[in-house]
Amino acid sequence: MAGNDLTRLRAHEMAAALRAGDVSARELLEASLARIRATDRPLHAWASLDEDGARDAAKAADRRLAAARGAGQEALAALPGLLGIPVALKDLVVTRGLPSTAGSRILGGFVGPYDAHIAERLAEAGAIVPGKTNMDEFAMGSSTEHSAWGPTSNPWDLTRVPGGSSGGSAAAVASYHVPLGIGTDTGGSIRQPAALCGVVGLKPTYGRVSRYGIIAFASSLDQIGPFGRDTRDAATLLQAIAGRDERDSTSAPIPVPDWSTELAANDDEAAGWLRGARIGLPRQYFVKGMEPGVEARVREAVAALESAGAIIVEVDLPHTDYGLATYYIIAPAEASANLARYDGVRFGYSEHEGDVLGNYLATRGRGFGAEVKRRIMLGTYALSAGYYDAFYLKAQKVRTLIKADFDAAFASVDALVAPTSPTVAFPLGARLDDPVAMYLSDACTLPVNIAGLPGLSVPCGLSDRLPVGLQFIGRAWDEGTLFHLGRAYEAITADAGWRRLDPADLGALEDPATPTPAERMAAHA
Ligand code: GLN
Repeated sequence: MAGNDLTRLRAHEMAAALRAGDVSARELLEASLARIRATDRPLHAWASLDEDGARDAAKAADRRLAAARGAGQEALAALPGLLGIPVALKDLVVTRGLPSTAGSRILGGFVGPYDAHIAERLAEAGAIVPGKTNMDEFAMGSSTEHSAWGPTSNPWDLTRVPGGSSGGSAAAVASYHVPLGIGTDTGGSIRQPAALCGVVGLKPTYGRVSRYGIIAFASSLDQIGPFGRDTRDAATLLQAIAGRDERDSTSAPIPVPDWSTELAANDDEAAGWLRGARIGLPRQYFVKGMEPGVEARVREAVAALESAGAIIVEVDLPHTDYGLATYYIIAPAEASANLARYDGVRFGYSEHEGDVLGNYLATRGRGFGAEVKRRIMLGTYALSAGYYDAFYLKAQKVRTLIKADFDAAFASVDALVAPTSPTVAFPLGARLDDPVAMYLSDACTLPVNIAGLPGLSVPCGLSDRLPVGLQFIGRAWDEGTLFHLGRAYEAITADAGWRRLDPADLGALEDPATPTPAERMAAHA
């Protein structure tokens, strides 16, 4: 198989080819690195690469494969699903000896002293990490434009954003750099970029994955999750990283099912899962400002699920409207506490001006970008003595109401179906001067984090030639139902014409004359 063909494979196809001896982990990695080198300048999905480390890991994976092949079928079948498969890490996953900047100048030059829990798990599984991907600073944003290292573009239209904050991982998976990527989702940062880039993304139940070694944004909302080009691949990646870890007391001792084996390879069998499934359609999720093309694709997808035997029930989530306000009190409040540790003494960037306070002001003043400062101010204000009850405490009460809305809905349905993002990918720069417009990108995803539930986004067609995402929301710990629904939807739309379309600007990525995202943004300003 030639390099370009190799990068087109899904992770489960790569796994089969590796076991059959048709390809080596080294060849898969070299194909991935070649594609990154050839196409990432105008995309800027990556923050840093670790070619040497990845090559060592690929060699080790090939040794494991060879040993298992020598030992017979049983040994081959027992190998982990991710062995030899390239996986991108968002640049807030701390890894020993490698830069981990969270998209922030204040962590410029910071090198991880240890491995995050998920980095350890991926290494044990034999996954190959070519590097770290670009992101909004401290995961605050919906466009990847708030990265201190410059924006990332959307491979479907290079003048548009990939979504955010995990835009680098989503763009890398959509551009065939890697079959799998890791993101984090505090209010939508996996599902929204997955939707805007036309890939699959899952935000797991709060507590499903250990946050040990993940640079924190808002600790009661942050979850780590997978990107893939189909549901089965995303399930395989989640399975490898999920489960209790002593070092994160919020990670739950709940067994991790073998989702990837449960999901049918056969389309008819997968579609059969829909018969009799009760799926709620929340009225409130067709929000004001939703693009008609997005609403049309989502309603068509719901009709397709119904034709395949699902029972669609309209449900009410009456407090949905308060989700945004609640989130923008709780998330900044937690962020203001989490970001207090960046003092110029312990991590990365450091300025020296006069006394201790001078150092502190200069380091934080120049180290943090505008959006992060906005959040720290919002959060500090909401937590201050005079306002705590009026804002923070009230937001916590509304949080309970939002959660109760979901509990009531799940009394009568197995899962919910909704849009992921109210719009398709928007132009670079379009929402930078209007924070509230940017915040509205997550109107359909934030409530899921507020309630701690799992949410899956799968591609459901195009509007204005740009991808639209369909969101499934599940009960706590029921990622399994979401995976079955995503897989079933893929099965019933397997022949749809849009599934065979490549991101429209892939060709331009290979043209060395194509400007970088930062140059395109400057030209617009
Ligand atoms: N866009 C939302 C924010 O800026 C959510 C980000 C996220 O999920 N990390 O806070």
